[in-house]
Amino acid sequence: MTTMTPINTIAKGTLYVVSAPSGAGKTSLLKAVLQKLPELKLSISHTTRPQRPGEQDGVDYHFVDQATFQKMLDEQQFLEHAEVFGNFYGTSRAWLEQQLVEGHDVILEIDWQGARQVRELMPECRGIFILPPSREELSNRLTNRGQDSDEVIAKRMAAATAEMKHYDEYDYVLVNDDFETACEELEAIYTARRLRTASQKVRQHHLIHDLLSDSME
Ligand code: 5GP
Repeated sequence: MTTMTPINTIAKGTLYVVSAPSGAGKTSLLKAVLQKLPELKLSISHTTRPQRPGEQDGVDYHFVDQATFQKMLDEQQFLEHAEVFGNFYGTSRAWLEQQLVEGHDVILEIDWQGARQVRELMPECRGIFILPPSREELSNRLTNRGQDSDEVIAKRMAAATAEMKHYDEYDYVLVNDDFETACEELEAIYTARRLRTASQKVRQHHLIHDLLSDSME
């Protein structure tokens, strides 16, 4: 694998790396939270996976062919990349870097392999892992999708277990049992992060300046 230089260290926004096994409800959770917090941005990955019904190019993913993905990889355009279920996925470095430098908070919805690479390059990122409430529920959720055969579901359960084994590499762990509660918990992580002194110092710069000034004007 190519050695990447650390991402711009003057980054002002916070990078959240969210992982979960397929069936944990990660996408719906993030969708709900992103609707409530419009200032938070979601990175759109590049993938060689075929487009599923209902998915939009440039919205859900940037769907690219193998040759394009390889070219981007060779040109070091990805901050991280991984092979998941036989397809390639990668996060565009340029877009992300720009967002963070401009002060935007960004979510990466990526697998544990990608999360590891990002953590290496940006140790200050915050990792969130989402777990399903039980193995039965996970199996139900994978089955209820109705899009895959039994064999694919069995494979996905095995892959889900493999993904979940990495939960303790993350800073936060959510259990998506009650959807509303999980949303609130996700939001709470975001809010607490924004209220850190280092963040408030920048965001509340004018207020703090005024409050601490000695003049009575
Ligand atoms: P799906 O194809 O079902 O949308 O996603 C399959 C898996 O690939 C999920 O675990 C998802 O988080 C992961 N994934 C999506 N985009 C990226 C990416 O850019 N990088 C990495 N490492 N994983 C990704």
